[in-house]
Amino acid sequence: MTSIVWFRDDLRLADHPALHAALERGGPVVLLYLLDEQSPGIRPLGGATRWWLHHSLTAHAREAERRGGRLVLRRGAAEVEIPRLVAETGTGAVLWNRRYGASREVDARLKIVLRDAGVEVASFAANLLVEPWEVTTDAGTPYQVFTPFWRAARERPMREPLPEPRELPAGPTVASDALDTWGLLPTRPDWAAGLRATWEPGEASALRTLERFAEEGLAEYHRRDEPAIGTSSLSPHLRFGEVSPALIWQRMHGDLSPGARRNVPKFLSELGWRDFNWSILFAHPDLATRNYRAAYDEFPWSWDRGPEVEAWQQGRTGVPLVDAGMRELMATGTMHNRVRMVVASFLVKNLLRHWRIGEEWFWDTLVDADEASNPGNWQWVAGSGADAAPYFRVFNPELQAKKFDPDGDYVRRWVPDDELPAPIVDLAESRREALDAYATMRGRPD
Ligand code: FAD
Repeated sequence: MTSIVWFRDDLRLADHPALHAALERGGPVVLLYLLDEQSPGIRPLGGATRWWLHHSLTAHAREAERRGGRLVLRRGAAEVEIPRLVAETGTGAVLWNRRYGASREVDARLKIVLRDAGVEVASFAANLLVEPWEVTTDAGTPYQVFTPFWRAARERPMREPLPEPRELPAGPTVASDALDTWGLLPTRPDWAAGLRATWEPGEASALRTLERFAEEGLAEYHRRDEPAIGTSSLSPHLRFGEVSPALIWQRMHGDLSPGARRNVPKFLSELGWRDFNWSILFAHPDLATRNYRAAYDEFPWSWDRGPEVEAWQQGRTGVPLVDAGMRELMATGTMHNRVRMVVASFLVKNLLRHWRIGEEWFWDTLVDADEASNPGNWQWVAGSGADAAPYFRVFNPELQAKKFDPDGDYVRRWVPDDELPAPIVDLAESRREALDAYATMRGRPD
């Protein structure tokens, strides 16, 4: 009997538990991607992730075809479209890999609807190292602090990655949207030239990126805080599930040079932050719109999106490291982690703007923007998040540049000397104002 495998943020064939289970069942398999922008709890994608999705789906469809399968594209609310496709194809089972944000409610409801209709439903662990409910404190509550979370998580037996299928049985012929009709790519204007020059979405590229990092970049990972030196660049591939964390974990325990091996624990702990953010989102589905620590509801952040915010967005603040980061973001859809912290601190502390203004900008412009790590990290910088940097830690962009970009290589790459305007804000004075604002907040948690 026919099965449907419903792909979401897991656009891969290797280590895909739902696909693997469908193939084990035997019979025809319909490979489905549904562009669902209607269901409650779905956060519509930003511009950069829409660009990535288009190309990732193109690559995924091509890889499926090479193995005899066909990716069916549909658009609409899952609760309408999936039962419709089940009826069209006479499907007996729908399988998917789990998701952990507010959209999991959609999955839970759909499960009931399908089961009531006599359709088998199965969901699988696939996109995190550990399921959020598997790692809890002794009291059974989610961890609020990263270090004990990670200590507990990394001790758990990790899932063995599943092999990539060599062949995919063709499913029944059903209508499929043409990807171009979804309008995921920017046209007027086409601002994606820098993204095209920087990235190659898709599983094959994700696996090459992992391999190159294991063989070359990992040995330099102790210098990960220096923006002129690259990190793994795996984040957008992980964001769209083109590579699974279990596969990365396995590669990190495989053949490596001694220099690379030394950096494995640090690299894996960064991957652990990804899981930590998802576990926070699992417990707090409104992480993007609400302070994790309610005491910060009192904080006098401004919502003014006027000229200072525009200068920040366009990399015209006159603060070299901030401008370099914001220009890197506009040009490439990414920004080095250390610089993300600096530009975020500048917005929420030196400009005293609400962290949600920055979170929304990153959501629109980052190719790796995800529901957990983006708000989780913004709240971390703002001080309102789980295990957050204390509010009084205000990154000084000049000292950060001296320490992590001592020769100015990174700043020069993005901001030519003749393009630096005068700073729009005095760093020392605005730092003092931020600390004063913090002192007025009632019920300070730090
Ligand atoms: P590497 O250093 O090679 O790390 C490997 C992987 O670990 C990353 O691909 C990522 O999956 C994970 N990781 C590393 N650091 C973090 C972290 N702090 N939080 C969560 N996961 C982490 N990361 C996103 O994936 N999506 C986001 O939307 C996002 N928004 C951010 C917003 C702000 C304000 C800040 C300060 C950080 C944000 N990050 C986000 C985290 C981090 O900056 C990126 O994951 C990292 O820069 C990606 O580059 P990389 O893959 O080369 O990282």
